[in-house]
Amino acid sequence: MEFEKLYHSVVEQKISSRLIKHSVVKQLSLSLSNNFKIDEIGKSVLGKKIFSIKFGNGKRNILLWSQMHGNEPTATGAIFDLLNYFDKYRDGDLVSKLENDFTFTFIPMLNPDGAKAWTRVNALNIDLNRDAVAIQAPESKILWSLLEELNPEYSFNLHDQRNIFNVGDTNKTATISFLSASFDESRAMNDDRVLTMSLIAGMNDAVQELIPGCVGRYTDEFYPTATGDNLHKQGYKNILIESGTYPNDPERQITRKANFIALLEAFKLISEGVKPNRVDDYNYIPNNGKKFFDLIIRNVSINLNISTSIVDLGIMFNEKPNEDYTEMENHAKIQNIGDLSQYLGLVEIDALEDNYRDEIKKYAILNQEATFTVGDIEIVNGVII
Ligand SMILES: [Zn+2]
Repeated sequence: MEFEKLYHSVVEQKISSRLIKHSVVKQLSLSLSNNFKIDEIGKSVLGKKIFSIKFGNGKRNILLWSQMHGNEPTATGAIFDLLNYFDKYRDGDLVSKLENDFTFTFIPMLNPDGAKAWTRVNALNIDLNRDAVAIQAPESKILWSLLEELNPEYSFNLHDQRNIFNVGDTNKTATISFLSASFDESRAMNDDRVLTMSLIAGMNDAVQELIPGCVGRYTDEFYPTATGDNLHKQGYKNILIESGTYPNDPERQITRKANFIALLEAFKLISEGVKPNRVDDYNYIPNNGKKFFDLIIRNVSINLNISTSIVDLGIMFNEKPNEDYTEMENHAKIQNIGDLSQYLGLVEIDALEDNYRDEIKKYAILNQEATFTVGDIEIVNGVII
């Protein structure tokens, strides 16, 4: 609550959407006050500078990185909000304690080439989150050498997840999903998992007021080459935050605020000493489900030859930034046709049994940029007219 109230006073105004240019990250980093130490810690495959930003003089290290996957930028905004908070409230009890006890190291946008191209992978098409054993991408080398150097007490791996996810059996979007990753196939527990799960339970409490019921738990299936899994295997405590969508918030700015609140609460709890007593609360957070489409058009009548079928169309938008990286262009693809009564649309339209019409096939096609009309809706090459 207290963090939510002051958020408006620290939100970084130069970031207002998910399309964050590397030049903005660079400019914001280099224009921070003397309270921060900025280092160029390496370059991406295509030569873009990767920065670390440090705050604090303490011996205990906390490391956070965002945009390991290029097209997952929500937490990058939250990082700059947190830096503004440290700067503005430096004299306050919490920040002065954090500054004395800890050194925070932030890497905003670990994969700038992927951000520019709006892809998950880097410029060599390597998924940095599956490069934790081989460590072959230059961006992975930067991250892992910093991990070894700092030996952080806690680390935070900040991602975005797709719009498909809901919370458990509910109709709520998974706006934030947390994970304390497994370190082996059997998903065994150890002290580090107990502590990270207990910390996540506290972070969950902190964001429930902003996004009630919209917090899920990501699968802890073991991924042998993934970052969090290998961090836990090697004895580093790591928390994964997946930013998702929230109704009527396509740019995920509410999600960004939830990241700010969750991370600040985590810092506070780590500073007070995380008690290993909340594993049950972690396990009560519902698992992510996969109920959502970006758009469902219900009750569409498809007439072909002698048959008439009333179906629902489940549509996802493929996103692509425009040329100058200022606006997101959505390209609609039909991904499921039939009885979608068990699914939800972020947007739902009832076609009231109006006829599906297109110029060529006369029936809906899966997984290509859609071109059709039904009722008042017209989609041409994936673009809603
Ligand atoms: Zn990711």
